[in-house]
Amino acid sequence: MESLRFKAINDLTTPGNGLDVEGPTKITGIFGENVFTLKTAREFLSDEAYKSLNASIKGAKKIDRAMANQIAAGLRQWAETKGVTHYTHWFQPLTGTTAEKHDSFFTLKGDGTALEIFDGDALIQQEPDASSFPSGGIRATFEARGYTAWDPSSPAFIMEIGQGKTLCIPTIFVSYTGETLDYKAPLLKSLEALNKAAVEVCHYFDKNVTKVNATLGWEQEYFVIDEAFFNARPDLVLGGRTVFGHSPAKGQQLEDHYFGAIPDRIYAFMRDFEQESYKLGIPLRTRHNEVAPAQFECAPIFEEVSVAVDHNTLLMDVMDRVARRHKLRALLHEKPFAGINGSGKHNNWSMATDTGINLLAPGKTPKTNLMFLTFFVNTIKAVFDYSDLMRASIASAGNDFRLGANEAPPAIISVFIGQYLYKVLNDVKERVGGKFDEQDEAILKLDLHRSIPELLLDNTDRNRTSPFAFTGNKFEFRAVGSTANCANPMTTLNSIMAETLKKFKKDVDTLIEKGEKKEIAIMHVIREYIVASEKVLFEGDGYSEEWHQEAEKRGLPNVRTTPKALDAMVTDKAKHLFESNSVLTHVELEARHEIELEKYIKKVQIEARVMGELATSHILPAAIKYQNELITNIKGLKEIGLKDDSYANQKQILTKVSEHVNKMAELVEKMIEARKKANVISNTREKAIAYCDTIKEAYFDQIRYHADKLELLVGDEYWLLPKYREMLFLR
Ligand code: ADP
Ligand code: MG
Repeated sequence: MESLRFKAINDLTTPGNGLDVEGPTKITGIFGENVFTLKTAREFLSDEAYKSLNASIKGAKKIDRAMANQIAAGLRQWAETKGVTHYTHWFQPLTGTTAEKHDSFFTLKGDGTALEIFDGDALIQQEPDASSFPSGGIRATFEARGYTAWDPSSPAFIMEIGQGKTLCIPTIFVSYTGETLDYKAPLLKSLEALNKAAVEVCHYFDKNVTKVNATLGWEQEYFVIDEAFFNARPDLVLGGRTVFGHSPAKGQQLEDHYFGAIPDRIYAFMRDFEQESYKLGIPLRTRHNEVAPAQFECAPIFEEVSVAVDHNTLLMDVMDRVARRHKLRALLHEKPFAGINGSGKHNNWSMATDTGINLLAPGKTPKTNLMFLTFFVNTIKAVFDYSDLMRASIASAGNDFRLGANEAPPAIISVFIGQYLYKVLNDVKERVGGKFDEQDEAILKLDLHRSIPELLLDNTDRNRTSPFAFTGNKFEFRAVGSTANCANPMTTLNSIMAETLKKFKKDVDTLIEKGEKKEIAIMHVIREYIVASEKVLFEGDGYSEEWHQEAEKRGLPNVRTTPKALDAMVTDKAKHLFESNSVLTHVELEARHEIELEKYIKKVQIEARVMGELATSHILPAAIKYQNELITNIKGLKEIGLKDDSYANQKQILTKVSEHVNKMAELVEKMIEARKKANVISNTREKAIAYCDTIKEAYFDQIRYHADKLELLVGDEYWLLPKYREMLFLR
């Protein structure tokens, strides 16, 4: 029988492989057509219901039952004009994907009448079977069920890819005892905390500000490969990452992919998923090749954080569905292929006021520049004070393969600000001091104003190696992994910013109470924060060995692996931060910590199992067949009377194959033993560390070494797993 690998290669050359995509349609013609926007709501709701919905979107008012019934009816009416028969509560559980449970509008009344109904109760609350979602022990100790609750701040939408069309109601997911069990709820709370703290600080400069919202523009990196190759790689199917595979002779060294044209088949896929995204209101704007072969990126126009988070999780879902339609697979894993770049998801983050000011954009006047400087320096201080939490917020089994590897930021959290702002901070540090008076303050402000606008022209001052970089009018958190739900790092960033701004306000007010003029007080506290946090600033090459040494001298944490990075979630500092800002309670933090650890254990466990299975059932049989071929050949040559040296080469290969097969098998056995030991550890943190140290770190690379050597030695026709060169270059 032809192996899946060769069938995949053969099928690629059959005509009709690609899917043509109509278009390009005018984007504005389809943008948001599957979203229940306020404009649509206007059309389908009574004045009263519309007002109520609008007020609750702004967070002002709860929707009562009667109103919910009206809104639900309007939603159903709208959905039915689009051929929708089912609805679902859509939410973002801590498993990292999205969840939905479909119900139909269809019901039978007691007397047997068939009706299509969607009422307020169904809109507001649902009870999915929570027992299959992670709760980190909350359910065991408290209550066995949870419910989803409508989040009116995020608009309902219709998902129409694949079979049928479904009305999706964005919800949060909560346990019956009130603990949040999803990513969305704490995110919304962190946004509220940030809003409160930031508005107060804004009032030093501008009394008209009544709301501050955080903004997020993510950049999603991903790989695309042919579906048949994907199906022939059990490691990709089960874990999203290739656990074996020798680097191809050609990798990314020519850097020809980055600048090359997007391949036709991929281009059709991109246009298709973009169109689906536009219908869902996702404002995608850029698409391009990335550095590694078969790697690509897309990015939208930035939006308010909560909407941007929804859109990113939706996009990942849409990409997956559309890829299948094209007989392709989108790989979102942080490191699907060893030896070439992995994928990240840069989170561009800033804060915007309801008066239209980007708080991280240098201002047009000396006064607005002081406001910029305030928020800029507070961000740096926040990241310095809570760098351990920033690290924890991006920790995952997948990201561990990327962070600290060649192409990704290191596990050390530092901040890059560029030479101009570096100089600005230095000026403040040197000039604000003892007898600093109003005149000094005025002159300094003018000087700063003169130097800051230059940075707008400074596009070259980019540092790709920094995990957290200022890029002109926003910070870019680059250490986020490609599969991550952005809500997690965003919740942390918003919360630490809220906390720091609260402290800043207190510090400034204290000086004002002592009789200091407001702007001088602000300058003093800014200076104090610069001095306190300058250790976190780093402008050099974040990938270099020198930085690791330097960072250690500075006392910056460098936690390489997830189980230990997660410790930061449950320190007293973290508990105080999240609880005092009403983002997460101690119980919720403990639960989330446990869930992240469990997720880590399961991911490593799955990979370890896949490795063992592939070694035994794919690699070993191929090696044995090839050995037999060699043996027959050697025997034959001997039989017809040729001398030893005529089959010396074959003998040598035979010996090498035997050695690698034996070593590989031996290591697999040992790894299984290590797993047995780890499995009986009852403390989740210790178990995760055991999985990390005694399984992943101890065996993965070693086993892979022998498997990859065998890939080079064994005759190509015997090899069952699609090779890197095939997956990465054939389409
Ligand atoms: P690049 O980083 O590749 O130079 P851009 O600077 O244009 O590209 O922006 C990258 C991402 O940053 C985009 O997703 C964009 O929407 C986002 N972005 C731009 N301004 C902001 C902002 N004020 N807040 C959040 N994200 C932003
Ligand atoms: Mg960028």
